Amino acid sequence: MNMAPRPPAIKGWCPTALRPMETGDGCLVRLHFTGGEVTAEQCRAIGHLARTFGNGLIDLSQRGNLQLRGVSAETLPALTAHLYDFGLLDADMPGAAAVIGSPLARLDATASVDGKALVHGLEARLAAASDLNALPDKFCFLVDEGGRLGLDNVAADVRLIGFNGRVVLAVANGAGASTPVTSTDPSSAIDAALALALAFVKLRGTASARRMVDLVQAIGTMEVARAAGFAPDVPMPPLPHRITEAQDIIGPREGFIGIAAAFGRVHADQLDLLASLAPNDLRLTPWRAILLPGSGPEGLEPCARAGLIVSPDDARLSIVACPGQPACTAAQIDTRRAAEALAPLARAFAPKGITMHISGCSKGCASARPTPITLAGRDGAYDLIFNGRADAEPALRGLDLAQVRAALGAAQAGKASL
Ligand code: SF4
Repeated sequence: MNMAPRPPAIKGWCPTALRPMETGDGCLVRLHFTGGEVTAEQCRAIGHLARTFGNGLIDLSQRGNLQLRGVSAETLPALTAHLYDFGLLDADMPGAAAVIGSPLARLDATASVDGKALVHGLEARLAAASDLNALPDKFCFLVDEGGRLGLDNVAADVRLIGFNGRVVLAVANGAGASTPVTSTDPSSAIDAALALALAFVKLRGTASARRMVDLVQAIGTMEVARAAGFAPDVPMPPLPHRITEAQDIIGPREGFIGIAAAFGRVHADQLDLLASLAPNDLRLTPWRAILLPGSGPEGLEPCARAGLIVSPDDARLSIVACPGQPACTAAQIDTRRAAEALAPLARAFAPKGITMHISGCSKGCASARPTPITLAGRDGAYDLIFNGRADAEPALRGLDLAQVRAALGAAQAGKASL
């Protein structure tokens, strides 16, 4: 391995690996894996690089990316060179998180279409589509192959949903939902998705839209469909509502075991362990969990000993938390300490799904959706919001942790405020 830093000769772009984000604990370097597939060898390499050039911590993102934390300006050039050597910076890689895929692609006999082919095909077309350079960095496509793991609760601007052997194209319409606009043969699905993205690029200026949801809310789904070249009044098939929660995939499952890390953060040693247990490629998921296809339940015990989450009953699965203090300079509270302390209470509100969002400030990076309980940091204290986002009007302000516990205990007992 060549340790000498060198300018990465990368023709494509990978904005977060080559333009890392400054955070409170150093630079954050985001790595994207097409379809969320990562080999055991890549996992070991990432663990090594995280320990050597970062602080050893790696976040699992909501888009199935891995993010190395604690990289310094001094270690960044060598890290970049090593990422390149390990093949973790692909010269043709498009946007860091342009396409989210079904985590069980080509492993799920119930899938309606070949999601892997769509993800790879779409990323390749995006890399070559200069007329889509104006898409915002956060613009996101999602390929749901219509199999065991429903992706309806994963945010995306344009969705390709496998259904009865065809692909339904849908656009974000607010509150995490989407509206179908056309249905195609799989061979035409990528063209249709790109047409919707191009319609967004052409029309966004008229509505000052940052994302597809803004455009749809400003001009309506029919106008977007018309601009993409689709007949706007063709009836769409009623799609089943398909949602996967982390609790559905953790532990021993048919064909894989699912492992999560507390509040989406693993240590390099834990990544090494997962690599050692994986007979096949690992699958990163948008639910901040990792699937090990082909692994049996015997892999769960060492993971539990290493501090990983191996049971769907683990209360920590009920909470989503942003990095908080000290990792984020904007953070007003230590979100992870609060999450550890409040996890049992969060679980008491519902046995499944995310019930609590703990945000270091009102920006709410960890969840754009309303949650039953949101705690937003302000001046070192907690603002408590029921059924809202981190930027919503709090029901109670300026609480300490004991007061939060008391308020949640009362709400749980009477459900009065929920
Ligand atoms: S929500 Fe606020 S504190 Fe949390 S990561 Fe975002 S900016 Fe930082």
